Amino acid sequence: MSQPLLLLEVNCPNCQAALTHGQQVILGAHLVATHQDGEIRLSALFGDDQVQTDLAMGDGDVATFTCPYCERSLMVETPCKLCGGPLASVNLASGETMEFCGQRGCRGHALGGFGDVDEMTDLLNRMFKIPHD
Ligand SMILES: [Zn+2]
Ligand SMILES: [Zn+2]
Repeated sequence: MSQPLLLLEVNCPNCQAALTHGQQVILGAHLVATHQDGEIRLSALFGDDQVQTDLAMGDGDVATFTCPYCERSLMVETPCKLCGGPLASVNLASGETMEFCGQRGCRGHALGGFGDVDEMTDLLNRMFKIPHD
């Protein structure tokens, strides 16, 4: 049995612009080490850590993210609980917020890549409003 693919519809928390385009979430990115600005395309599939970017970004490199529409920062104060790197936050269409890590190679870099299976299942249940028994 294969898991159904789950596409995350995410919005900017500041201007509410839709950031999911097809199967990608397109954000502005700033590479901290080299001060390069560019674009980053995260996979919009839950837990998928595929990333495409025009920045020279390798494993361990850290980026901060902005909304490509209002250009406001998506970064939050809380550091990544997995690697201590910078954390970005976007809104889900369901009203939840989803955080992801700015450090490439961190498991939290994927949308939904945080947490254990129970937490992920719980989030999915809440997203689809599946009642708990
Ligand atoms: Zn925005
Ligand atoms: Zn991290």
